[in-house]
Order: sequence, then structure tokens, then C-alpha cells
Amino acid sequence: METPSNIAFIDLAAQQDYLKAKIDAAIAKVLKHGRYIMGPEIAELEEQLSQFTAMTQTVSCSNGTDAITLPLMAYGIGPGDAVFAPSFTFAATAEVIALRGATPVFVDVDPQTYNIDPEHLKTTIAQIKAEGTLSPKAIIAVDLFGQIADYPALREIADSEGLKLISDAAQGLGSTLKGEHAGKWADVVTTSFFPAKPLGCYGDGGAVLTNDEELADIMRSLRVHGKGLDKYDNVRVGVNARLDTLQAAILLEKLVVFPEEIIKRNRIADRYAKGLSGVVDVPMVMAGAVSTWAQYTVVSSARDAIMASLKDMKVPSVIYYAKPLHQQTAYKHYPVGGGQLPVTERLAGEVFSLPMHPYLGDNVQEYIISSVKSAADAANV
Ligand SMILES: *Cc1c(COP(=O)(O)O)cnc(C)c1O
Repeated sequence: METPSNIAFIDLAAQQDYLKAKIDAAIAKVLKHGRYIMGPEIAELEEQLSQFTAMTQTVSCSNGTDAITLPLMAYGIGPGDAVFAPSFTFAATAEVIALRGATPVFVDVDPQTYNIDPEHLKTTIAQIKAEGTLSPKAIIAVDLFGQIADYPALREIADSEGLKLISDAAQGLGSTLKGEHAGKWADVVTTSFFPAKPLGCYGDGGAVLTNDEELADIMRSLRVHGKGLDKYDNVRVGVNARLDTLQAAILLEKLVVFPEEIIKRNRIADRYAKGLSGVVDVPMVMAGAVSTWAQYTVVSSARDAIMASLKDMKVPSVIYYAKPLHQQTAYKHYPVGGGQLPVTERLAGEVFSLPMHPYLGDNVQEYIISSVKSAADAANV
């Protein structure tokens, strides 16, 4: 049980306590049938995830990074191709593009939602086309911190430019806009079941979701070494990117409570917003959107001083993301829309995230809020 003197940034133990009997039974069942690879829980989870997100096809896989790799491979994206992505994200979003030999092109984010800015995307696509050396192929939007990206605007751009639209929903699976999941607009939605993500397993895991049956079939082949109908005739060069049966069994139990956890996360976010607006910049949610609040991320020009005081008060806080990808060693030679990304660069210097998980108690949250207030007071903001 969390107390104000013992606060977890993400309390996975509280969720485990809540689900322990069911998860133990689910694990025991897998140990009993012994089908550790592609056991019956895999198909069951894929069916449940398709229903949850209103998609027709789910391809479970090894992690959220491979989940983005599979559609890039299936689309044949490679050298000479440009894939547009935000720089203000986790490295995996751009890593997979570079690993395919394609070129990540970095786009700025909206100052309010922290998600890819459709207007800046348009000018960046125009810039790449005018330069004429790369051929634009896809957009990877990220549902950063759990908030759905502006998919209606992104779909329009993708259609008018003939680009594939991929949703990196590693943090945002379950987020909606006017009741619709990202797959209503995106060609492919990818997610991660890394333990700390809103829907996490007890190890690595991921999934790709789509309504494109042909694409899903190619990805099912790619995930098992490019297998064909005949097990001994591989029809394409693939990878080993399966999800473990044990993780699927755990996820099936966690998925049952996930909708109620999203509601709890939103109550906690509302309480943070009430308690902290005017103290720091609290995150804005688009009209009609429901976030999964993978992180509760606030902005302050006094960020470093506030975080130092919070540390003294034993309130954990973390910076996502301190260094945007276009400034990191491995990625700084890739093209950047307009040459620089002012919003991304400012946010990297001012954001910090507060403890957020569905089991955060009222008293603990009140303590966090009052700590942030006194830290901001001390920092004179
Ligand atoms: C976590 C994350 C990934 C990668 O997921 P893994 O399961 O760790 O491979 C990709 N994109 C974003 C935005 C993430 O947050």
C-alpha cells in the first residue's frame, strides 16, 4: 500500500495484488497445457484486442518496437524512402525507420497536445518533395503520453500525399477520439505491452492492429521467419517476433480490467488538472478525446528546481523526453522539417511527469499535488 512516504512512479504491485488470483490461475493453465509458443491464448488475446479496438485483425508480437517494424517491412519501406515522425518521442519510433534503411524525417509537435503537428507535417512533406532525393512513403504518428494524435487531420494529409498512416500507440492503446480508436483513421496501429505501459504484461510484448487482411497475413508470415503455407518453404525473409503464450495469458486478465482502469486514470488526471492548473501548465486533451494517461506530463520553465524539491519530498518525477531524437547522436544527421523544431526543443527543457497509475490513492495524490505547489512556490513561479 502506497503512503505519502513511499510513492511509486507507476505502482505495478498494486495492480498485481488486485488481479493476483486470476493471473496465477492463467499462468498455471499455460504451464499445464505447455504450449508456450503460439498456444491457444495467443489467438484468444488477438480476438479480444480486435474487439476492444474495433479492428478486424490483430497480430500479436514480441514488443512495441517490432510492432512498428512489421508494417514497415510489409509495406516494403527501405532505402530512399522518407518516413515522417515526431522527434519528441521514445527512440523506437525513429529507430525502426532507420533500421529498415529508410530515412526518418523529424516533424515538430503541437504545443498543447505534444503530438505531431499536422501543419508542420504538411510543410515538411513539401520540403522533402522539393529537395527531391527521398520518396515520401509513410507517417508514424505517436499517441504521446496516452493522448490520441489528430488522426482526422493526419488521414487527410496521408490521403492527399499517398502516404501510409501508422499509429504508434505504444502509450495510447485504448485512447479514443469521439468514441473511435486510432484504427478508424490509421492504416495500422501498433502497441507495446512493456510492463509500465497502460496495458502491460510481465515482460516484453506488442501487437499490430489493422483492418487490412492482406497486410495482416504478410505480417503473420513475417513474424515467424517469413513462413509460407508450407512450414518448410519460407516465402519471404522475416524475423522471429512472436508473443509468448504466458504473456498473452496475463494480458487476457489485464484486458478485462483495462476499460475500468482507463476511467480511473482519467479521474486521477482530472484531479491533477484541478489541483495544478495555474501552478504548472497541465496537459490539454483535445475536444472529444479520452487519453489513457500513460504519463501525466506537465510543463514549467522552473522544471529543474521543482523536480529537485520534489525529490527532497520523496515525490518521484521523471523527464519524458529530455533529449529529442533529432538532437541525439544516432539521429542528428537525419532531416528535420524547417531545420529546427522549436516546440519540441522547448518542451524537452520544460516537461516532467508525475506519478500516474490507476491505483493511486486520493491521499497520496493530494500529497503529490501539495508538494508540487510548494515546490513551485519555492521556485518562485
Ligand atoms: C515503449 C514505446 C515503444 C517501444 O515499445 P517496446 O515494447 O519497448 O519495444 C515504441 N514507441 C513508443 C512511443 C513507446 O513509448
